[in-house]
Amino acid sequence: MSYFRYIDNGKGPTKLFIGGVHGDEGKDVLPLIKLLSYEDFSPGQIYIYNFDKTPYISTIHREFYESEQGKKILDLVDYYKPDFYTELHSYNIKHFKSLTSLKRLDNDGIPPLIDCGQYVLCSSVSPLIRRKHFTKETICQTLEFPTFRWEDLKLSEDELFAKYDYSHDLSVREYMSFLRLITLSKTRADFEDRVLRDYKKQADLALKYVKIIYGLDFPRY
Ligand SMILES: [Zn+2]
Repeated sequence: MSYFRYIDNGKGPTKLFIGGVHGDEGKDVLPLIKLLSYEDFSPGQIYIYNFDKTPYISTIHREFYESEQGKKILDLVDYYKPDFYTELHSYNIKHFKSLTSLKRLDNDGIPPLIDCGQYVLCSSVSPLIRRKHFTKETICQTLEFPTFRWEDLKLSEDELFAKYDYSHDLSVREYMSFLRLITLSKTRADFEDRVLRDYKKQADLALKYVKIIYGLDFPRY
């Protein structure tokens, strides 16, 4: 069943979180969303949606935003006009290299995802919607949690550690640590300070990629 949570924390930024953007990612990110407690949120209006399984279409393809699910998400964005917009995704750990590779720029014209540690990835949102549905002031973020498919599903925690140097607990900690930067930030400037303090290397990369995609006069988040 789809999940929705609204937190009325009074005056402050509007924050929209979307899990289960496409495919069956909702089942991977819902347990993470549920780790957020009331104390994790800044003042403001907070809306969290997590969707059930829908057909998988990549958000870098226009067909996604023409699909029922894509339209639903854009309707929410246009309705709430959030100051912070966050997509909570999951990905197959086997795709770590290709998702973080600069080849994405050459092949698809989209920036690579950025490694935040423990296989957690971050980036802005799809270039197809960044300019059209948000202002420059909006903080747009995508977070990706590693998951396993195919033969990896049979492996134990120890075997996964041996094969990928992956620890579920450490990945959860990293994902939540980045997510809390977003949930706790009171303003755009506050978010920028927190990212520069905890994720300087990632912030530098985000700036590099945004310059390539959007030009000099565009914010990195
Ligand atoms: Zn996804």
